[in-house]
Amino acid sequence: MQRREFITSATLGITALALNTCHREEEDAKTGMANTGKKEKVTIKLATSWPAHFPIMGTGVDKFAARCAELSDGTLEIKIYPKNILVPALQVFDAASAAQIDAFHSGVYYWKGKNSAFSIFGGMPLGLTSEEMITWLKFGGGYTLWRELYAKFNLYPLIGGSTGPQMGGWFKKQINSLNDLQGLKMRIPGLAGEVMQRLGVNPVLLPAGDIYTALERGTIDATEWVGPALDEMMGFSKVAPYYYTGWHEPGSILELTFNKTRWEKLSPQHQAVITAASEEMTGDMVQEFRYENAKALQKLSSATEIKKFPNEVIEAAKKALQEVLAQESEKNEDFKRTLKSYNDFDKLNKPWDDISTKNFLEIRG
Ligand code: CA
Repeated sequence: MQRREFITSATLGITALALNTCHREEEDAKTGMANTGKKEKVTIKLATSWPAHFPIMGTGVDKFAARCAELSDGTLEIKIYPKNILVPALQVFDAASAAQIDAFHSGVYYWKGKNSAFSIFGGMPLGLTSEEMITWLKFGGGYTLWRELYAKFNLYPLIGGSTGPQMGGWFKKQINSLNDLQGLKMRIPGLAGEVMQRLGVNPVLLPAGDIYTALERGTIDATEWVGPALDEMMGFSKVAPYYYTGWHEPGSILELTFNKTRWEKLSPQHQAVITAASEEMTGDMVQEFRYENAKALQKLSSATEIKKFPNEVIEAAKKALQEVLAQESEKNEDFKRTLKSYNDFDKLNKPWDDISTKNFLEIRG
């Protein structure tokens, strides 16, 4: 009797539970349908400074867009406009600032002319590595400053990946002393270009598509680009046999920047989706650059000779960099504040890095 009562009540209980579940699912379905009906698809027009599906940088943005669609259940569409489709490669900053586009993916150091402080957010010659840069931006106060300074242009920046350490560039002749740099014409942008200028180099700015021909024809004597993976595709090894190790871009940061008004109009969910997908893109890009560079290094033509700059060149570059930074700090209060934040992080980070990563790499050999 007791058992029967138990079975009955248990059965009733299960039935009630089942009915309840059914009912709830029906409700959810209705609400879901109602929501789906109401949910408008939000489209973000994003221009990049790269050709369509450009390896690692461009494909990184492609994956970012796919992840936004996936994580938002299809409610957030990132429509990508490769360079020169909607706006020229180096006008994406102005176009987003003026709300002609919603967002862009590019390199921060291109905007040095807007505010010299921006070059620091893109990375520093002889400075922090990608991992250290990202740590400074996220935890050491870098993001706060970057966003404050970009807000003046009605822009809201996110980290959009990083190249990892870059190579020092391709040279037609060997550099054995400071003397060998005198009058050399080299394609090298940003703060590094200013440093090289103090070392006697004529820094030249050339769009990617013109570098190879300029090097081949001798219009320039040297060029930096990125690292083995992307440099190999450019064919530089055919016209400049000496490939120097890097010093000037130890951890260049790419940006995924939004028109600030547009960003603020996005729902908190869509903001969260973009933030999460951008973090994923950053991690993936650093790892992919590492892997592809390692593979490409193996494939470099036997005609390529990997060289290190002589000590006197590196020491002179360090000295020149300090002069450039001091001069820029005098001229621009934003630069001074940004540099202080960067240096504060560097001071905090270095003792730990010395006894952890640096020490380990030395003993690992
Ligand atoms: Ca570069």
